[in-house]
Amino acid sequence: MACRNGANERYWIRLESEEHAFRSVRPVKQSIVTLDLEGVLVPEVWIAVAEKTGIEKLRLTTRDIPDYDVLMKGRLKVLEEHGLTLHDIQDVIGTLRPLDGAKDFLDALRTITQVLILSDTFEEFAKPLMRQLGWPTLFCHRLKVDDAGRIVDYALRTPEQKKKAVAALKLLNYNVISVGDSFNDTAMLTEAHAGILFHAPENIRKQFPQFPALDRYEDLMDRITAAL
Ligand SMILES: [Mg+2]
Repeated sequence: MACRNGANERYWIRLESEEHAFRSVRPVKQSIVTLDLEGVLVPEVWIAVAEKTGIEKLRLTTRDIPDYDVLMKGRLKVLEEHGLTLHDIQDVIGTLRPLDGAKDFLDALRTITQVLILSDTFEEFAKPLMRQLGWPTLFCHRLKVDDAGRIVDYALRTPEQKKKAVAALKLLNYNVISVGDSFNDTAMLTEAHAGILFHAPENIRKQFPQFPALDRYEDLMDRITAAL
């Protein structure tokens, strides 16, 4: 393991030194947009589950609890207490639709630049929503589910995946524009060349005044277009 970590570190150091080498002679400005999913393109899945089940504790999201592990462990405990399975959650997700205007915005954006969705959701939750959005590229995590369909744990592919993905895209010489609404997006927004808050609640806007805060897809498209 130590050996693999060492090799991994050397790989990143090499990429960083390569980035240094061509930083002064960049011949092109090629852009990519990374979008958060929940709150930006689709409703908050856990709020929908809270409404459907009447379990108030499930209303908490990354907007309320900055530590994702604390949030997820709490959610799994509540699911266990109420005997809710993956199937129950998928039933709720199956009733969700993208936010008004989200699909048109995403379709239009994908005609002018590359788009990557960076989400802290899980493969098991995302599929019905991705289908409705025309199967954009999605980086997210995976749940651990037992034979009875109970969600027993979750597996992050890697911690801080949003920020790391943006950093990796920068090493590939992309101009990165990132959009999100929550605490789990702010490291990504900071890492990006241009970070934009979209549909962000007041507490996030106040805490991160360095990012423009928008609420309409038309305004978001204008802002992204200007940063391409
Ligand atoms: Mg979000």
